[in-house]
Amino acid sequence: MDQVKSNHDEGPGINTRSIHHGESFASETGTVMPPIFPSATFAHGNLHGFDYTRSGNPNFRILESVLSSVESCKYVTVLASGVSAITAIVSTLEKGDLVLCEENLYGCTVRLFEEVFRRFDIKTVWVDFTDEKNFSKIIDLKPKMIWLESPTNPMLKVIDIAAICDYAIKVKAPVVVDNTFATPLFQRPLELGATLSLCSTTKYINGHSDALGGAICSEDATWKKKLDFAQKALGLQPSPFDCWLITRGIKTMPLRVERQSKNAFAIAQQLLNHPGIEWVRYPFLSSHPQYEIALKQMKAGGSIITLKINATQNQTYEICKSLNYFTMAESLGGIESLVCHPASMTHAYIDRDTKLKLGIDDGLIRLSIGCEDLKDLTDDLMQALETLKK
Ligand SMILES: *Cc1c(COP(=O)(O)O)cnc(C)c1O
Repeated sequence: MDQVKSNHDEGPGINTRSIHHGESFASETGTVMPPIFPSATFAHGNLHGFDYTRSGNPNFRILESVLSSVESCKYVTVLASGVSAITAIVSTLEKGDLVLCEENLYGCTVRLFEEVFRRFDIKTVWVDFTDEKNFSKIIDLKPKMIWLESPTNPMLKVIDIAAICDYAIKVKAPVVVDNTFATPLFQRPLELGATLSLCSTTKYINGHSDALGGAICSEDATWKKKLDFAQKALGLQPSPFDCWLITRGIKTMPLRVERQSKNAFAIAQQLLNHPGIEWVRYPFLSSHPQYEIALKQMKAGGSIITLKINATQNQTYEICKSLNYFTMAESLGGIESLVCHPASMTHAYIDRDTKLKLGIDDGLIRLSIGCEDLKDLTDDLMQALETLKK
């Protein structure tokens, strides 16, 4: 099977759309790359309606135009980080509102809901959305918002986005999908019925681990207005320079992400046969519990692999550290391969019982596969896992 399915968009393809942007705001110079506009403020009454960078800047608009083209959606708001994007969305809720969350969310998203928004009386209920029986909770609880990621971090659960949206529409609950792991190249939540598709552009969109950013995509002018309001009112705006870096990074996003995904698919298949590994999780492996849903809603499996080894926390840590081409670090989606030990890193905040319930135990390893040569990555993994064979 071809790992990366073709793209059915009409008009220019996604590679073209990632490279070209509508406006440079400097047409008189013939500049091929857009300038950076570090100005905090703008002369009143200017042609494009800029006033103060907290509420808009040419570099924000350039990035928003590329992202809306790549995601094939009408509206995008860019923010300082993925966490800023989450904050902007939650800030539209009222006290007492209930958010129905998939139970496996990014650690910082859980922390925001539990440690911050809870104090403002935003309530949460956590459910496993891979279990269809839980879909009826949407009807029973009538939440004010539904929140999910797919694939999830770090368990790579795949959630049936279209099925959730079918339920949500009955109670008019907006569905927020964190699309950071899949990228708009491989998954389009808005086309599956989601209200908002958010991503941390820090990861695959920028792809070079040198800027933080977040973006929220929608088809709805009212949402765009609310999110632009949150950007300026809460001070969640990005910096013009980071937007410029992300605008540059996105030009190679399809190239990088296809290469990373091909590498990851090959590595996942190879790890399957390793005697020291208990299980390997990757959306496009037929052994994945939601393989059929992954095939239905994703164009490729992405470049995150989660695996479970039978080892103590120390042993797992040593294996992670003994890799040469995988830096042990948080984050993912850059051109360089990274390895993460979720139990002690990204999900350290979550209490041990909850972690175990979610499957995040001491022997769990998350790999973010980069653009290096496949053979170098597999050789490196094999040498690091050698100790497990004994
Ligand atoms: C990294 C990440 C975030 C947060 O993004 P930042 O840019 O680090 O603030 C949110 N969701 C997911 C799935 C992520 O991987």
